[in-house]
Amino acid sequence: MNYCPHCAAPVIVETPEADNRPRSICTGCGRIHYQNPKMVVGCIPVCDERVLLCKRNIEPRKGFWTLPAGYLECNETTEAGAIRETLEETGVVVTELQPYRLFDIVHIAQIYLMYLARLQTLAFHATEESLEVRLFVEKDIPWSVIAFPVIEKALQHYFADRLHNDFPFRQDQITETIRTRY
Ligand SMILES: [Zn+2]
Repeated sequence: MNYCPHCAAPVIVETPEADNRPRSICTGCGRIHYQNPKMVVGCIPVCDERVLLCKRNIEPRKGFWTLPAGYLECNETTEAGAIRETLEETGVVVTELQPYRLFDIVHIAQIYLMYLARLQTLAFHATEESLEVRLFVEKDIPWSVIAFPVIEKALQHYFADRLHNDFPFRQDQITETIRTRY
């Protein structure tokens, strides 16, 4: 942040008195602009033995495969956000949402909450955000072109849990950054 969103004066980064970390402080109005992690919500949409993936039509990682997920909006529950993101990216409504994984991604200041969900219909299709939307059985998952480590891990956890047909909610952490693989 270079300029204050409130008064447009330049912003400096300093640790305020009685605080313990640097903050963006406006040189005009003196407001402290706190920055906090962003919440991402999404789904692992399942149909029988298959999982629905989308090929990204937007940067970053355009052309790579992902699970439907995106930033939670204000005034929206996490479940509603996960349903909305899935609809926007795949064209279908999901039901029977069940909280599945919370991933802390400290180095990029994001928190991912992924739900397990069922497809209500098979009428998924490409969208503005997805070049292609497809169901995959486990052996066909395109592991080498999955968009983000958090998505890769969510899928790995899902297939591991499926061996026992038990899908408890768990928390985990992502420390990996994107690897460039061709
Ligand atoms: Zn200001």
